[in-house]
Amino acid sequence: MTESGPRTRILIVEDEAAVRGAVRTLLVRAGFEIVEAPDGATGLALALGTPAPDLILLDLILPDIYGLEVLGRLRQAGRATPVVILSALDTVVDRVAAIEAGADDYVAKPYDPTELTARLRSTLRRVGVTRGLSTLTLGELTLNAVAHEGGRGTRTFPLSPTEFKLLAYFLRHPHRVVPLGELGTEIWGHDDPTNRHAYAQAIDRLRDKIDAPAEPPMLHDSGDGGYVLSESPPD
Ligand code: CA
Repeated sequence: MTESGPRTRILIVEDEAAVRGAVRTLLVRAGFEIVEAPDGATGLALALGTPAPDLILLDLILPDIYGLEVLGRLRQAGRATPVVILSALDTVVDRVAAIEAGADDYVAKPYDPTELTARLRSTLRRVGVTRGLSTLTLGELTLNAVAHEGGRGTRTFPLSPTEFKLLAYFLRHPHRVVPLGELGTEIWGHDDPTNRHAYAQAIDRLRDKIDAPAEPPMLHDSGDGGYVLSESPPD
């Protein structure tokens, strides 16, 4: 395939050499540049280093640091690099914990090669859209993509990577009902009904930041399980 500009760089953090090799072969064929780490500490160092990867494919059970801890340290360091978990652990609890920790998507082992490539491309596409913006506004509400923070009137507030994506999505689709399932697909990469409680909790945390107690609310419940971002309540 032909590409213009530098190729998208994916960091694979995976301790099993056979899995790492198979994923590398798959992703090189798909046109990606690959960086590899056999353990969490190496992965974290590469994730925080220069040049930073565009996406991290992260195993959970690693010999040194648990995968979610690698993810947590990355987010604590202020990095919003998209992370896709690739793990044999595949219960609802595992998936919800990964989303709560700031993962962008979750693929179970054994993985289907076509699906894995498609999910990585989908995640990169979502993040690429976010990267293209500098500031989005609605009334006195703003999202500053450079500072990675939200603002309302004269106050500003920090945003987790998930809250950042949520606010960007709401600001791009103001004054209309956004169903929770649509947010699942757009923000978390899949609308899994078993994860909707976690989606709703993340939206509640964003709402606490957007709507301070003394301010007129801007993020409204639509009454049918959806949300509306608007200066005035929905009809
Ligand atoms: Ca492993």
